[in-house]
Amino acid sequence: MAVLCYIETRNGEITQGASLAIGFSQQVALQKGLPFMVAVAGANDEMKNSYQNLGAETVILIDKDFPADFQIAARAAWLKNLTSEKSVSIFITDSATENSAVVAYTAGLLSAPVFTGVTQGVGFDDSALSRNIYSGKLKGGYVIDGQLRFIVLAPGAGTLFEPKMCDKLESYIFSGGISSNIQLLEVNEIGDTLPLTEARRIVSGGRGMRGPENWGALEEFAKRIGAATACSRPVSDEGWRPHHEHVGQTGKIVAPELYVALGISGAIQHLAGISGSKVIVAINKDPEAPIFEAADYGIIGDLQQVLPKLIEALD
Ligand SMILES: Cc1cc2nc3c(=O)[nH]c(=O)nc-3n(C[C@H](O)[C@H](O)[C@H](O)COP(=O)(O)OP(=O)(O)OC[C@H]3O[C@@H](n4cnc5c(N)ncnc54)[C@H](O)[C@@H]3O)c2cc1C
Repeated sequence: MAVLCYIETRNGEITQGASLAIGFSQQVALQKGLPFMVAVAGANDEMKNSYQNLGAETVILIDKDFPADFQIAARAAWLKNLTSEKSVSIFITDSATENSAVVAYTAGLLSAPVFTGVTQGVGFDDSALSRNIYSGKLKGGYVIDGQLRFIVLAPGAGTLFEPKMCDKLESYIFSGGISSNIQLLEVNEIGDTLPLTEARRIVSGGRGMRGPENWGALEEFAKRIGAATACSRPVSDEGWRPHHEHVGQTGKIVAPELYVALGISGAIQHLAGISGSKVIVAINKDPEAPIFEAADYGIIGDLQQVLPKLIEALD
């Protein structure tokens, strides 16, 4: 029996989500007294040294030719063999775009249960896991039975891992065939900013920003504090901001260290996307706005006056 954390790199780099999944898996392995392995897909040869310090006893590098971009069946077939070969009993991964599909496919091949959206272990039973339900209004605790279990973490879930040099570094060259009904035709880069799901700080604007012409101040503030920009759904529906910035139940689920909500009322559908944030700061002119119930810090005031003052204070 062993705990395996499976991560996919971005241009060879370990993402924030992957780091948190490694930390989560490390704790599970420690709690259960099981050997801990990390499998790094898309490993870059030049970065080999940095992969050795991921806190696991064994690090398995799967070369950069490991199929990506919707080649889910090929990845699953390969991971099925790895899971069996390494006697894995708990397979954990992060919420990266295709991981849920890859893990579901692999689990299907092995007739094992999958549990997604996991926020944390709940503590009362070392097999129990928790996830948010009813748009984040409640937390549910679940126990998953089985000799082999697959777990996909929620965005932002997990903890930073304790670095430790591995005892064993294994390299694999992907040798499976690739067959898929899906072909990637084109990739459109959205600027050079970090994806919102990876951002540590986010400044987000709602309808209270009044219009796209006022976004200059929001962007200036975000730039000063090194934050990515986001918005509520009506803002992207109105075309004030692009859809990829929309946060919430029907948009991105984010979990930054700091989420600053400017002129956002705090509807449950918006809160569903930000409840994993460590610190929420809200600025709103309405003291009764529900966002203040979710916020750690709040400023009651008109953005037209507060935002310029905040920027000035950062000079
Ligand atoms: C099925 C479904 C799914 C949805 N999914 C999402 C989702 O994923 N994400 C999402 O965001 N919404 C979603 N919504 C919409 C959601 O219900 C809210 O309507 C929306 O979040 C409100 O956006 P808002 O806070 O920007 O606007 P509003 O609710 O209009 O709030 C604007 C806020 O700005 C404040 N304000 C106004 N002027 C100023 C000023 N000058 N200074 C300071 N404050 C000011 C107001 O007091 C108010 O609180 C969904 C709705 C449904 C039905």
